Amino acid sequence: MKIKTISICGGGNAAHAMIPIIRNYFSGKINLFLPYGNEANHFQKLIDGEGSLTATIGDKKLYGRPDKASKFAEDVCREADLILMPLPAFAHEPTLLQIAPFLKEEAIIGAIPARSGFEYSTLKILKEANREKVKIFGLQTLPWACRTREYASKVEILGTKDVVGLAAYPPETASALSSFLNHLLNLKIEPLPNMLTLTLANIGQIVHPGIMYGLFKGNETRKYKKEEIPLFYQGVTREIAQILEEISKEILILTEELKKRYENIDLTNVLSLKEWLITSYKNSIVDKSTLETCFVTNRAYQGLRAPMREVENGYFLPDFQSRYLTEDVPYGLVVTKAIAQLAEINIPVIDEIILTVSKWMGREYLVNGYLKGRDIKETRIPQNYGINCLEELINL
Ligand code: NAD
Repeated sequence: MKIKTISICGGGNAAHAMIPIIRNYFSGKINLFLPYGNEANHFQKLIDGEGSLTATIGDKKLYGRPDKASKFAEDVCREADLILMPLPAFAHEPTLLQIAPFLKEEAIIGAIPARSGFEYSTLKILKEANREKVKIFGLQTLPWACRTREYASKVEILGTKDVVGLAAYPPETASALSSFLNHLLNLKIEPLPNMLTLTLANIGQIVHPGIMYGLFKGNETRKYKKEEIPLFYQGVTREIAQILEEISKEILILTEELKKRYENIDLTNVLSLKEWLITSYKNSIVDKSTLETCFVTNRAYQGLRAPMREVENGYFLPDFQSRYLTEDVPYGLVVTKAIAQLAEINIPVIDEIILTVSKWMGREYLVNGYLKGRDIKETRIPQNYGINCLEELINL
């Protein structure tokens, strides 16, 4: 795989983490595409100065600086062999629409993480821009828990997953891409057989809306003092674990049905939530006996609190505009529901969660059990990209 220039899109936590990591293992050019807000100016200052972006991982530090940053795709994407999008899923489409006209024919684009339905929208955008030879891929999750501590200057990497899955289109490119990213990110990347696996095995869709539902159903308007804000992952009780298990089970029922109907589709990597947690956090979970203990005793989840917004001095309400819902419902659970609808499979627990949390978000996706709510167009369901039957979805 000949990669001389990598362009990273966006300037969030994940992009901050990636720059020093990639710099450590890659000697080519690193460009940044930063169309959002004032982000390009901040990174331009870093480039103009002498400094580097510092990533702290425990007691280790990594340093790195980009070669070029711009608000305009034309400046930083034309020469890119590999384009990485460490972005929230709602930023994929606006970003892709800007970069597609400038892509090299043989470029490779990846979303880290992909969330659900990445390929439906990306293949459509590339086709419309006459860039059908561009290869795409997605990682199942972001490999790190990370937070920017000082913009364009310092990032902290709080945890790293043991292994992360990668799927690509065309699927046969997954193996070479996984080896390259293994080296580039210094982590174990495992090739997955198809991108439908990423959609169904999108873990964020279970964990984030599921825990929000469990923590706040019935407590929607309760005001919390700062010290009362519940822990998010470590706040998982036996009841919340049961909700998560039921969501996971419904996804597995759908997966089994697809396997039964289409023997040529390999979905063996769609794991249950507990299996996934144990695989991804082998070394961080102290007690692996139940789903509840896999959350509560996972060191990578330590201390992370539920998303809240301050409403009056010292009092907080749950933040229903948080990414845990605005990303993981329209780019997660709703996509799963759309596939279940095509397969005519009932998923009542997922329906209940979508209905409840979309009301909290001020959105309408589901009406009388069908995805025909007024906000359905903003989701990444296959039907929004002209895919209206299972055969088309499977044979994409
Ligand atoms: P972030 O919120 O820090 O990313 C924000 C960045 O995205 C912005 O700085 C901007 O560059 C870009 N952006 C936002 N809206 C945009 C828009 N409309 N158009 C163009 N660009 C836009 O996100 P993050 O923490 O870096 O996370 C990236 C992805 O990784 C998300 O899918 C997230 O759920 C996932 N993730 C993050 C973590 C973590 O620890 N940070 C952990 C697990 C998964």
